[in-house]
Amino acid sequence: MKLPIYLDNHATTMVDPRVVEVMIPYLSEQYGNAASNHHEFGWKAGAAVELARNRVAHLIGARNDEIVFTSGATESINLAFKGIAEGHHSKGEHIVTVATEHKAVLDTCKTLEKHGFKVTHLGVDHHGIVSLDDIKRVLTERTILVSVMLANNEIGTIAPLAQIGALCRSRDVLFHSDASQAVGKIPVDVVDLNVDLLSFTGHKMYGPKGIGALYVRASGPRMNLIPQMDGGGHERGLRSGTLNVPAIVGFGKAAELADAELNDDASRTAALRDMLVEGITSSLDDVAVNGHPTERLPHNANIRFRHVKGDILMMDMKDIAVSSGSACSSASPEPSHVLTAIGLSREDVLSSIRFGLGRFTTKEEIGYTIQRVVEVVKSARTQMLHHQFANS
Ligand SMILES: *Cc1c(COP(=O)(O)O)cnc(C)c1O
Repeated sequence: MKLPIYLDNHATTMVDPRVVEVMIPYLSEQYGNAASNHHEFGWKAGAAVELARNRVAHLIGARNDEIVFTSGATESINLAFKGIAEGHHSKGEHIVTVATEHKAVLDTCKTLEKHGFKVTHLGVDHHGIVSLDDIKRVLTERTILVSVMLANNEIGTIAPLAQIGALCRSRDVLFHSDASQAVGKIPVDVVDLNVDLLSFTGHKMYGPKGIGALYVRASGPRMNLIPQMDGGGHERGLRSGTLNVPAIVGFGKAAELADAELNDDASRTAALRDMLVEGITSSLDDVAVNGHPTERLPHNANIRFRHVKGDILMMDMKDIAVSSGSACSSASPEPSHVLTAIGLSREDVLSSIRFGLGRFTTKEEIGYTIQRVVEVVKSARTQMLHHQFANS
């Protein structure tokens, strides 16, 4: 077993070696521009892009012409929100989203608010689930977009998208979902989920960084998505800019692998995750799992360790890469807005650690992690008690 152990798969994932392998030719001899349609270099690049588009579309049950390649989920989310805001402002200025969304959504909403849009941020219950009734209650004639993430990046809670989507459709409101953490990890079907727009990204599913997609539903109620990047009219005019062929090829391979291996990955990581939770909770007092007991990602465990600081635990076990309840946007060490939204006290937020398992996590690594966590938590608690006695 090699140290350090990577258990931060919600932040990013290792690029699968099979993905790297198919990308390499497109970083060297296959350098054509996919938009050059008058010679062989361009045709080859174009064919590789369309094969990748086919695989990415298939993974989420979409049609090829419903996939727009972007630089990642952040860009997809920006395009969805700003593009719909611009295209539908004559209908209204109201947008509905949830307090536990990723910054890519929350900060895009902030910008839209500066431009006169009104954003309702709904709360969640203590498992991290938004209530359908709450959404129903806040929708108005002027609501143009509802956005609810499919799976949360901190606590792994999975939202009931199909029902929310059905509600939106019945009220003639467009529905977007940030599915960055879900695509490639759990089955995602855009038809079953009743979404109109869906954002996801390569580097969270064993593909390369800097490539993502926006699913844009082609049929059904009117959707006027205004491009946010002007130029050569690539991606059916929705996202101009020369396509990143190597990254797209890698993203396509990652999608193909996910299609074939998702169920096996999910059951294997879920078993290892359960082993981790069981190992930790059976050896330590005052620990609890954050998030939903069953409606959660198979590879996520977010655990709070009463009476110790997550940051200190992380410092004491540098051989294990995890995230704490404060390090999410590590530039500003604020307590996580997600853990705060599910009702945790500041102390509980700061004592929480996120474990993100992945395709390459081994049983040996989980065994080692259990042992280290138990050891480090016990030692931190003992030290804390000594401090308390010394100070009393
Ligand atoms: C990683 C992530 C993003 C951002 O994706 P990028 O491709 O890095 O821009 C957005 N939302 C969620 C839920 C994520 O986990």
